[in-house]
Amino acid sequence: MAFDLDMIKKVYARLGSRVEAARNATGKPLTLTEKILYTHLTEGDAAHAYKRGVDYVDFAPDRVAMQDATAQMALLQFMQAGRPQVAVPSTVHCDHLIQAKIGADTDLTTAKDQNKEVYDFLASVSDKYGIGFWKPGAGIIHQVVLENYAFPGGMMIGTDSHTPNAGGLGMVAIGVGGADACDVMAGLPWELKFPKLIGVKLTGKLSGWASAKDVILVVAGILTVKGGTGAIVEYFGEGARSLSATGKGTICNMGAEIGATTSIFGYDEKSEAYLRGTERAEIADLANTVKEHLTGDPEVYANPELYFDQVIEINLSELEPHVNGPFTPDLAWPISKFANAVKENNWPTKLEVGLIGSCTNSSYEDITRAASIASQAIEKNIKTEAEFTITPGSELVRYTVERDGYLKTFESMGGVVLANACGPCIGQWARHTDDPTRKNSIITSFNRNFAKRQDGNPNTHAFVASPEIVTAFVIAGDLTFNPLTDSLKNKDGQFVKFDEPLGIELPVKGFAVEDAGYQAPAEDGSKVEVKVDPKSTRLQLLDPFTPWEGTDITGLKLLIKAKGKCTTDHISMAGPWLKFRGHLDNISNNMLIGAINYFNDKADTVKNALTGKYGPVPATQRDYKANGIGSIVVGDENYGEGSSREHAAMEPRHLGVRAILVKSFARIHETNLKKQGMLGLTFANPADYDKILEDDTFDIIGLQSFAPGKPLQVVIHHKGGLTDTIDVNHTYNAQQIEWFKAGGALNIIRNQQHA
Ligand code: SF4
Repeated sequence: MAFDLDMIKKVYARLGSRVEAARNATGKPLTLTEKILYTHLTEGDAAHAYKRGVDYVDFAPDRVAMQDATAQMALLQFMQAGRPQVAVPSTVHCDHLIQAKIGADTDLTTAKDQNKEVYDFLASVSDKYGIGFWKPGAGIIHQVVLENYAFPGGMMIGTDSHTPNAGGLGMVAIGVGGADACDVMAGLPWELKFPKLIGVKLTGKLSGWASAKDVILVVAGILTVKGGTGAIVEYFGEGARSLSATGKGTICNMGAEIGATTSIFGYDEKSEAYLRGTERAEIADLANTVKEHLTGDPEVYANPELYFDQVIEINLSELEPHVNGPFTPDLAWPISKFANAVKENNWPTKLEVGLIGSCTNSSYEDITRAASIASQAIEKNIKTEAEFTITPGSELVRYTVERDGYLKTFESMGGVVLANACGPCIGQWARHTDDPTRKNSIITSFNRNFAKRQDGNPNTHAFVASPEIVTAFVIAGDLTFNPLTDSLKNKDGQFVKFDEPLGIELPVKGFAVEDAGYQAPAEDGSKVEVKVDPKSTRLQLLDPFTPWEGTDITGLKLLIKAKGKCTTDHISMAGPWLKFRGHLDNISNNMLIGAINYFNDKADTVKNALTGKYGPVPATQRDYKANGIGSIVVGDENYGEGSSREHAAMEPRHLGVRAILVKSFARIHETNLKKQGMLGLTFANPADYDKILEDDTFDIIGLQSFAPGKPLQVVIHHKGGLTDTIDVNHTYNAQQIEWFKAGGALNIIRNQQHA
């Protein structure tokens, strides 16, 4: 599980000169975020001053982390690159597929059995290509990364939206789709719009019930779920320096809920203590040699409004604990107002379950603060009213808090310790309930609380708070209880109050673990065989896509003219289909089934040009493919918005769609199409969308002189012999045109490997 010290040395070696070049280019002092971004530009770009929120820029991240659900397609694609090893240090974490039902041991055994083929694949492919593999039970991706791999000044991408957790240790860590992870592992640059910057100045110091979680609960209330879009949030000030590294991690983790690209804190004494406490003294020593570059310039923090696009100030000394929800993480209630909100909105006052832990809040500090409340239930003889679960974030934390007696404390007040995995946080929760139609309340220390997220039940009102507040509510069983001011009647009939929680940032006896659950890759993976059962319905090795035939593409049928919004969810639905995310052919049976057919206003019902009959989109396209006929998809504005799901580009490619012609694209989807060797085209005149009729056939003309900035033509052959010829635009650069010609970006890398 060794971190890569040589890689960190290389980053620190160029940090100073990149910062200097960027200061000269911008003519200004720099924020921490800018220093790290400029340090990770691909070679040759450091002297350019970028327009925030406008320019797309190529970066070279230091590291890739993948969770087991999204890693499957990322690694199946990576295998196509033909490389012997990944280009940057990478890890896989088995955390998302473990269902919480009975308790840690039983649930883990069941998951290993049910997901055996996925785990065998991930373990073997990791072994072969030099990827660190964290087995089921080892812990949740972000906690494991924080404990082992995050380092100040680094840049990481991860195939999970809460990757920003590593910002707690000063890393620019960004959640991406599998295609991006594949590119970086294959050695390609990674593109990002140069982000806007939001500065959060923290003054004062936390005390009493207030915790790091409350900082992000308040920030979410201020910025809302969209307020951070396209921005990196940088925290600074004496208050920031007073927070533990894991507390900072909590804030950055849940920063994903405001839509931020990522969040970050500078390197300070708390970061150093955490690095040393997690046996990474070498990194702390190195970081100390460049520490002036691992924080923003003093001029920036003295006058933040001159250097950030937006500034928020929070005084930690006055921070009140918050409870956010239900149904959205930005509905923020100070605890003093929460009881009233519950009553006024008629939310169920009875608390049924409280859940603590997850990647967001299961540090040693979190567990000890929650346990200090739990132990009071025992000492003060208070009956626990609600169900209680504890999800440790990693085996390192679980083993240590068990050794130190905290798990026993939770169990003595009725808590159930779940596996070190996502479990209820991602809906992997077989919740015991007598009546799923009843409106009910739960409270968690997780990050997301959208309807159905935890238990699939739309009647569940989920609230979010710190672990210690959750624990107090579990004991009270009543959401109108205020643990700071109210008393509870104990089993002896006396009224008792909670004392303020007390936590310990780092274990006094140090962290300990018997088996952290890590499998190192083979030194030489060339002989390792990747395990994929040819009969599997969940996994399928990919075949390279075929190169362009070298001519114009003619005789294409119209698969669908999509009307209105067509997001990546419409193109490749999630939900039950996710179990096929590692099997391209099976998941392709969801292709475009959510898109609305312009000609009949129905989803998943299109005319088959060969039979004249209406049928599902995937079956119609399979018929064209079987007959060796290509097709075209036509769409409206902002086609492919939504998640960066690579399946939305791979499925049409796999089933033989040759081009997507739309009024406009969502940029990430457009890039994904290019990577897969597809043609993504836009109407030069958007009104030409109206010229497309149901029985049309299409020719794409001009491909032999396909060049950046030069439009192509589409000839539309209407039924009855009339034709229209229209100009279509594209945004392919020279490199991307080569991707198209080769049949996909990975084909080029593979050819280079074999050259
Ligand atoms: S614990 Fe929840 S938020 Fe964290 S990685 Fe798992 S599913 Fe995502």
